[in-house]
Amino acid sequence: MKLGTCNVKPSKDPFGELTRASRCPGLKQRFSDRVLVMTTDKCFGYCAHCTRKWILGKSKIVETDAELKACVGYVKRHPKVRDVLLSGGDVLTLPDAQVMRFVNAFAALEQVEVIRICTRAPVASPKRITDRLARLLAKSGKVWANVHINTAAEVETCRAAAAKLIDRGIPVSSQTVLLRGVNDAPAKMLKLLQSLSAARIRPYYVFQCDPVEGLDRFRVPFEKAKRIERYCAERIGGLALPRFVADLPGAKRKTPLDLL
Ligand code: SF4
Repeated sequence: MKLGTCNVKPSKDPFGELTRASRCPGLKQRFSDRVLVMTTDKCFGYCAHCTRKWILGKSKIVETDAELKACVGYVKRHPKVRDVLLSGGDVLTLPDAQVMRFVNAFAALEQVEVIRICTRAPVASPKRITDRLARLLAKSGKVWANVHINTAAEVETCRAAAAKLIDRGIPVSSQTVLLRGVNDAPAKMLKLLQSLSAARIRPYYVFQCDPVEGLDRFRVPFEKAKRIERYCAERIGGLALPRFVADLPGAKRKTPLDLL
């Protein structure tokens, strides 16, 4: 299938997470400065547009202390790694003690400057963001939260939970997936971006739907995505404007749409 100007054939595992990117059990690396650690295969809800819809449950997750130690050892042997993404699944489906087991293991490494909590909890289960959890996460001074938020209504749902993290000094960013029929009207996207910045959530990325099999019904053509980006850029300042990108297999970075 042709995705915009790029010939990318959708597959069940476009980023080779079960094969190429898997560096030690439960750890994946595609870029030199960061690694992704699979902490669980559970989510608060299962998104129909999920990039890992075919591999969730098949991918090794880090369970035992020995497995976590092996992941920490891998990071130590790769001193360029400065950013650890705790993902899955959703790391916040785990109890606080388990979440902190991961955070503390990587925060103890001087080379690790950023630990990203990749979660939909503030939207899907806002009560999961307790004062206690926010306090624990803030302790290392290295934690950032990346929240998957797709609509202005979801911003309202997560606003108070996000504020608990932000008020503790944890930067909260949004990652949005551009979805046909959900947020692909320019005015809807503009409203989402304005709502995010009003809630002090940094609009970070708007992603094209990944080249995963079975997601065609959600995919927005590149040309339309570019028009939505232009529409927003002409109406809001840089603080509220995320990068509109596509994550393409084999690319060395997330590719800005205007390069496609
Ligand atoms: S929360 Fe993330 S990992 Fe879980 S189903 Fe949704 S997109 Fe996939």
